[in-house]
Amino acid sequence: MPLAALSSNAAAPVDLLFREVHAIDPRVGLDGLRDVRVRGGAIAELAEPGSLTPEDSEELVQGEARHRLSPAFFDPHVHLRSPGQEHKEDLETGTRAAAAGGFGGVIAMPNTDPVIDSAPLLRSLRDTAARDARVPVGFLPAITRELAGERLTDMAELRAEGALGFTDDGRPVMSARVMRSALRYQRLCGGVLALHEEDLTLSAGGVMFEGAVSAALGLDGIPGVSESSMVRRDAALAAYEGGRVHFQHLSVADSVAAVAAAKADGIAVSAEVTPHHLLLTDESLRGLDTAFKVNPPLATESDRVALIDGLRSGVIDCVASDHAPHAREEKEVPFEQAPMGTTGLETAFAVLHTELVLGGLLELGLLIERMTAGAALFELPAPSIVVGQPANLTLLDLEASWVPGEHGWESRSQNSCFAGRRLQGRALMTVAAGAVAYRERTFSVVGV
Ligand SMILES: [Zn+2]
Ligand SMILES: [Zn+2]
Repeated sequence: MPLAALSSNAAAPVDLLFREVHAIDPRVGLDGLRDVRVRGGAIAELAEPGSLTPEDSEELVQGEARHRLSPAFFDPHVHLRSPGQEHKEDLETGTRAAAAGGFGGVIAMPNTDPVIDSAPLLRSLRDTAARDARVPVGFLPAITRELAGERLTDMAELRAEGALGFTDDGRPVMSARVMRSALRYQRLCGGVLALHEEDLTLSAGGVMFEGAVSAALGLDGIPGVSESSMVRRDAALAAYEGGRVHFQHLSVADSVAAVAAAKADGIAVSAEVTPHHLLLTDESLRGLDTAFKVNPPLATESDRVALIDGLRSGVIDCVASDHAPHAREEKEVPFEQAPMGTTGLETAFAVLHTELVLGGLLELGLLIERMTAGAALFELPAPSIVVGQPANLTLLDLEASWVPGEHGWESRSQNSCFAGRRLQGRALMTVAAGAVAYRERTFSVVGV
């Protein structure tokens, strides 16, 4: 069931030879020069550098010092806005953005219009993905009907239709009683419960993080404990019911501590963090630029440092972009009224490589591990450079210098909090489920 749970319209299976390329896959201890042959969309040979010769119709990619061949990244948290908000994004543009960012698979959130909370809608979206998606897409339908936090969806039926799990992302499940019964149904039907943690009675009316900057700006703040108190509650409920929960977009140090404590207690929890929470703080809000208005809000420097430490130590399992496209006119309104969210698929690797890897805070191999780990958290096979596996590969150029947004976006929206920054590193080519999903440039094709 897991592989079938992802849907895409993959192009023809590809034949490629990466020759003398520096391949790096920390999951299997690979970090060095190799020849990697992809035949019919699968990894066919892994050999000593320079030992394989290209065959007819095989595209030859000659490795350079600036290249790394990585397993394709996997993003367990994106908003593709379909159905109902296709003016922001759809399955085709969203997965094009994913492929351009080096992602070979994504998981879409259900806070669409209508909400993805029924089996027929899930089925029709999976059909649309099979027609339109550039990289495989999995879906997390809602935990509660219409995300209202009251009545559970038919979780068993949704699972039978291919749901990887469930989430009310955009909103928390405020009622502990409802959360508890979702955990009980999970025991019967499986699937991960992915949780957007926010105590609405604490966050209500807040438009940014509550702290010195919100005080200086005179804006209503959202206290960090709005998130961390709910992380603690749901870890306790998961422990009580023997459930499995995944905490989305951690934003404050206290939440990292709560996840660490839950893991130390042996509770089945995992967690993700976004590039923007790893790299930005509420200081970015001083100019009232709505590009930085996100949920959960950007917190303080000590929170940011705790998130980086958590990602490094493994308390936080993976990176997720929380790619949240909004149309230009929706963000070009007074700060208080603007919707929350930033796009992120096209910049995730580049910003983290520039700031954390080149900044000496995270090894490249560890970043690659954290950018691919999301698949296994949702019971999907981890993308890996292993003979016999389907080719899910990203060819990275670690020296490419570029400015996101300078030449437009693959996404239909452009509300990126990283637009205009000079970055170093990007995907040159993404192979997803055995087919080329993105290429920055063409390499030499032999025998054609
Ligand atoms: Zn969320
Ligand atoms: Zn989200």
